Amino acid sequence: MKRKAPLTRGLIRSLLFGLPLLLSACAVSVRPVSAPETIEKLPDVPVRRLRPETGLAEFAEARARIEPLAEKICKAQTSGLNCNFRIGIDPTPDLEPNAFQTQDRLGRPLIIFTSSMLGQLTNNHEIAFVMSHEAAHHIRAHLVREYLNARQAGESLARSAAEIGADAEQIQKAREVGQFVGARVYSKAFELEADELGTIIADYAGYDPRVGVRFFYRLPDPGDLFLGSHPPNEDRIQVVKRTIETYGLN
Ligand SMILES: [Zn+2]
Repeated sequence: MKRKAPLTRGLIRSLLFGLPLLLSACAVSVRPVSAPETIEKLPDVPVRRLRPETGLAEFAEARARIEPLAEKICKAQTSGLNCNFRIGIDPTPDLEPNAFQTQDRLGRPLIIFTSSMLGQLTNNHEIAFVMSHEAAHHIRAHLVREYLNARQAGESLARSAAEIGADAEQIQKAREVGQFVGARVYSKAFELEADELGTIIADYAGYDPRVGVRFFYRLPDPGDLFLGSHPPNEDRIQVVKRTIETYGLN
């Protein structure tokens, strides 16, 4: 498969900079998660251990399988959402291991792995599992929903502050606190939603989520922090197991 040009840090920054404007114009509806019965399941691929600091071939294969499948599921389960995924690696050296989902100014969904992220994954099923999880974030419209939650909570708290006679600076502070809380209230639930749909996507792309989920056994556990961004790893593992049973995967 022809490898696409990697995303540069400047491009990512400019895409992120454009996000709030873009999101405020979004109108999206999302249907409940369901197994993609009308979509043909791809044949299984064997477990291939990654060589240290590599994984580019396995990344390209996962992208070739997951990109078209995520697009089909996105089109089947949403309306008003851009389903034309672009999946790439940010080659900027010394970035933290990370994989995330964002979108460009035109609303095109981007899934980005930092180079060091590949060094954290031990086989092709883990790459596919993480990639599918990020695609699921977009299909479930999490960026849009988080933005709307943050805006609503921010304006609500700013109004409350104004009603009790706060000055402009205090009102702005209240708005920022509200936005932070609003963005975090559903953050853990969104992660679990993405784990559920991500498990389905990885399975339909031919990967084994029972192998991919083992990534969570090595991920530092965030614990169960109030207003934390991610749920405990044990909760995520349970969601993946339940999804495999519920949808009869593998
Ligand atoms: Zn996530």
